[in-house]
Amino acid sequence: MQGKVALEEHFAIPDTVMDSYGFLADDVWEELKARLLDLQERRLREMDAHGIEMMLPSLNAPAVQAIPDPARAAALAARANDFLAEEVSKRPERFRGLAALPMQDPDAAARELARCVEELGFVGALVNGFSEGAGRPGATYYDLPQYRPFWAEVERLGVPFYLHPRNPLPEDAAIYAGHPWLMGPTWAFGQETAVHALRLMASGLFDAHPGLRIILGHMGEGLPYSIWRVDNRNGWVKTPKVYPAKRPLGDYFRENFFITTSGNFRTQTLIDAMLEIGSDHILFSADWPFENIDHAANWFDSCTIAELDRKKIGRTNAWQLFGLDRPARG
Ligand code: MN
Repeated sequence: MQGKVALEEHFAIPDTVMDSYGFLADDVWEELKARLLDLQERRLREMDAHGIEMMLPSLNAPAVQAIPDPARAAALAARANDFLAEEVSKRPERFRGLAALPMQDPDAAARELARCVEELGFVGALVNGFSEGAGRPGATYYDLPQYRPFWAEVERLGVPFYLHPRNPLPEDAAIYAGHPWLMGPTWAFGQETAVHALRLMASGLFDAHPGLRIILGHMGEGLPYSIWRVDNRNGWVKTPKVYPAKRPLGDYFRENFFITTSGNFRTQTLIDAMLEIGSDHILFSADWPFENIDHAANWFDSCTIAELDRKKIGRTNAWQLFGLDRPARG
């Protein structure tokens, strides 16, 4: 399929590239590093060869979210965003930016998002899970009350927020002890991100800000398969409401969430997602450079779904969600 949009695709700047060291075997590090640091050459050739018209690059993980000093996190986010804006301006018909945000300080994150959208022409944000250094030890998640003004600003700006994975901190990873192979994309990324998404749903965030649109990668981090059970467990027992949200969590999942195919190129899984969240809320992505664009595109272009759904998932959903008809600025 020609004309695809891809939106979970990462780059690095020299300051952040080592954050991606160790996720793959050492013997492919030089290749991975070169893929991360490139925007205009190999990446464009891959896009051209596999029918990707537009890419929304985002900073690698965990990068900004793992910096315990909020001022340093804000400075790094601004530096990465300025670099991306410069690269996008060279080919605005092929690239649009997703902002990195210093979530350690919700006010600084809101200001940086407004700057990126209103001054640099970015079309959304991508954040790598919880933040460290957010005024308390350990991991801070974004359902907490201090983030409500930030979310109000996201809603006001009208841009989607991509909740991207990171690994849990060592003190929160007892279940993986002795099994390092479970970290990262194998399992821990999905577990961490799915629970964070459920926290957002249960917090009442989407009652207060129904216009928010959250994107999850990896075919929804397992949630399409699990969300019915989240709401319907022990259905014969009358239980008191246990969280602030007003409605069943599946309502928010279907209305406020979108998912991408990044790193999960499996037709059976896609069809389950289509049955649960609907093809209007699914978007093509690869997860370059950690996954191959040819693996994503060859699968997606030929998987057994209706052509109308392929067009929506491959292109038109993203075009509408990110307002890609708007002229690029920056
Ligand atoms: Mn990714």
